[in-house]
Amino acid sequence: MSMHLRTLDDLNVAGKTVLLRADLNVPLHTVDGQVQVGDDKRIRASVPTINWLRERGARVVILAHLGRPKGKPVPELSLRPVAVRLSELLGTPVLMADQVSGPAVERLVAGLEPGDVALLENVRFDPRETSKDADERTELARDWAELGERYVSDGFGVVHREQASVTELALELPAVAGLLVEREVAAFDKVLTDPARPYSVVLGGSKVSDKLKVVANLLPQVDRLMIGGGMCFTFLAAQGLPVGGSLVELDQIDAVSDCIAQAAQRGVQLLLPTDVVIAQEISVDAPTQVVEMEAGIPDGWMGLDIGPRTAQAFAAAIRSSATVVWNGPMGVFELPAFAAGTRAVAEAMTEVDGTTVVGGGDSAAALHELGIDESAITHVSTGGGASLELLEGKTLPGLAVLRRDIS
Ligand code: ADP
Ligand code: MG
Repeated sequence: MSMHLRTLDDLNVAGKTVLLRADLNVPLHTVDGQVQVGDDKRIRASVPTINWLRERGARVVILAHLGRPKGKPVPELSLRPVAVRLSELLGTPVLMADQVSGPAVERLVAGLEPGDVALLENVRFDPRETSKDADERTELARDWAELGERYVSDGFGVVHREQASVTELALELPAVAGLLVEREVAAFDKVLTDPARPYSVVLGGSKVSDKLKVVANLLPQVDRLMIGGGMCFTFLAAQGLPVGGSLVELDQIDAVSDCIAQAAQRGVQLLLPTDVVIAQEISVDAPTQVVEMEAGIPDGWMGLDIGPRTAQAFAAAIRSSATVVWNGPMGVFELPAFAAGTRAVAEAMTEVDGTTVVGGGDSAAALHELGIDESAITHVSTGGGASLELLEGKTLPGLAVLRRDIS
């Protein structure tokens, strides 16, 4: 879909209380008994919209979730540590509510001055947030709508969810996209509708069944398709190559064969691994070998990374492209022995003279863990599931409610 969203410029916020859905779902670690925020990329990504609103005299009330508390308060999933980190990044105190809604929240919000920031407790502590029943979600959204006059949707990581703070609340108040959602959608819109050529798509990750809809949606546009990661072994098996004990989804062989045929018919250059790194188990010190795919993977061994020759070929194809979309690690990058393929692809992404977009939670984590210079990539998405669904060509419920043609 081409996504013309209502944006902050369409919203008068001076003196108003603005409810802001942000994605502050960050990893937490316990250091010396203190809970601390790990990679704070998502908190940082939320700062520009918060500051935009504060600078214009809004009172900002943030709604966010952390993990999966399944509809009840879980102390370990409190947003308190996030409030601390957000305060540091904003350089102003963030007032933390201990509740998701109700009188205590109402009192806190009533006491806000223009420019103040409050954070409500983990919205998923309330079962109505993720309820399958739209009436229950609407009930919670109406409680929140009482707190303010405007709604800004900036949690890109949740716009593919039909949840009270994402969809129903947007229907209760004048609602627009925040700067992060605007930036994310613009990046995907550009590569989906108007990619400069050559246009390459690199896919990896564990499950081929997760990614085939992306392949189907992108095939009509793309010039080169590179497949690595666990998903490549279903492609290789579909071509009759021995893949040993590698990840293979037998029930996807037909769909994959169809993809291969489609690519050939459309003149898409399909690059599959010609060599792979194999081991007998997924562990740090497992002995590894590189095998040619022509020879195949012996029984008892599994492919855990693309091989060096494949990595070079993929990197060269990436570097010579004008648009590259990458989703899914090339191997089990969490272990150094199987990270070289993912590193080669990630580094090549930083060397492209053109537009580069990375989607996928683990792919973004890989960039961080491998110490890749993310400033050299056009766009690294903050949303795993949401970015995948955009690449699948789906209409996301949290974006549909922000469309210009719907008021
Ligand atoms: P993303 O979150 O970026 O969309 P996925 O969730 O699809 O990526 O896949 C990431 C996971 O795939 C990683 O945990 C990685 O270890 C795993 N993986 C990659 N290659 C292989 C492989 N050859 N065998 C098994 N697992 C793999
Ligand atoms: Mg993942």
